Amino acid sequence: MSTDCIFCKIIKGDIPTKKIYEDDDFIVFHDIKPMSKVHFLIVPKLHIETLKDCTETHQSLLGKALMLAPKLAESQGLLGFKTLINTGREGGQEVFHIHVHVFGGH
Ligand code: AMP
Ligand code: ZN
Repeated sequence: MSTDCIFCKIIKGDIPTKKIYEDDDFIVFHDIKPMSKVHFLIVPKLHIETLKDCTETHQSLLGKALMLAPKLAESQGLLGFKTLINTGREGGQEVFHIHVHVFGGH
């Protein structure tokens, strides 16, 4: 939990989102500026800034994040989808709380 992190605020319920899924470890919601017909973000509740900050202890969490993508894409009516993880400012990352983008409906 980081007090000035927008995704931590969403997880805490302080900022509303169009949530599509939640469990003990993840929250998933529609991106506020969708880049495709369907565009949602898979966000672990654990505040990890970037993929570069992940260690072996996060392997299972990262695996679970990817495993959620096809399940939730299907729930959004997608037959196929793209995934993206931006890493670091030079990698196009804007929110420094790790997340997986899922795009579909092109
Ligand atoms: P990234 O560039 O990978 O860090 O992506 C951050 C994403 O978070 C962008 O696609 C933003 O549109 C999205 N985003 C930022 N704030 C919100 C919010 N309050 N609700 C939903 N999506 C958001
Ligand atoms: Zn955070």
